Amino acid sequence: MHTSPVIQEVDAGDFRVRSVLLQGSRRRLVWDTLTHPDDMAPFARACAGEPPIVVYSHADWDHIQGTAAFGSPLIIAQRASVKRFQTEAPAALSELRDANPGKWDAVRLLTPDITFEHSLDLDLGGVTVSLQALPGHTPDAVVAFVPELNLLLAGDTVELPCPCVPRGCDLDGWIDELERWRTDTRIRTVIPSHGPCGGSEVIERTAAYLDGLRRGRPLPLPSDAAPFYVSTHLDNLRNCNLSS
Ligand SMILES: [Zn+2]
Repeated sequence: MHTSPVIQEVDAGDFRVRSVLLQGSRRRLVWDTLTHPDDMAPFARACAGEPPIVVYSHADWDHIQGTAAFGSPLIIAQRASVKRFQTEAPAALSELRDANPGKWDAVRLLTPDITFEHSLDLDLGGVTVSLQALPGHTPDAVVAFVPELNLLLAGDTVELPCPCVPRGCDLDGWIDELERWRTDTRIRTVIPSHGPCGGSEVIERTAAYLDGLRRGRPLPLPSDAAPFYVSTHLDNLRNCNLSS
């Protein structure tokens, strides 16, 4: 018997972001802690008694700022996140605090206790969580494959209608890795941190979007895309030196 993943989704301003709680027979694991400790209230109640393992999909502010809700959990992330916790994460938080004094007071940036470079497998008791680096969206981005649930937690490596593509990122490596996961027949459910969940078609469509950027022939956004994605798409074109 394997318990289904529990999803927590919150509004982060212009977009929504989700976190996932996985439960094994021995340990619980929280995949991303979102924007604020309050976002983690339901998971903190579920984890009362024993702090969970926290995994950061990457060190962007909307994935890491709620960790203080859990007291002192064991925190795991990809190695490149360590530097981001020294630079980008505190910069993003102080920007938020300047814009909205008081609102972010409860946030504490809790850095990883354990890091890995390529992959790390965790056994929660009947539920295996295989963390694998997938740089592209950020250098520290990871995905988590859970074979017992035929599940891929994709973080921000997969997102529809389009992911955020930074200037100078390794598009080839990103697309290759997505292609590898897309063709992995064990995967039936894909849960990205933003945008729709689904099956391997969510990976396929993200890879097609990235491939359009790579070939200099960007795919158009759907006509009903939210304003956030319209501006993300324009940023992506600029970052890939393509005009709209
Ligand atoms: Zn994000």
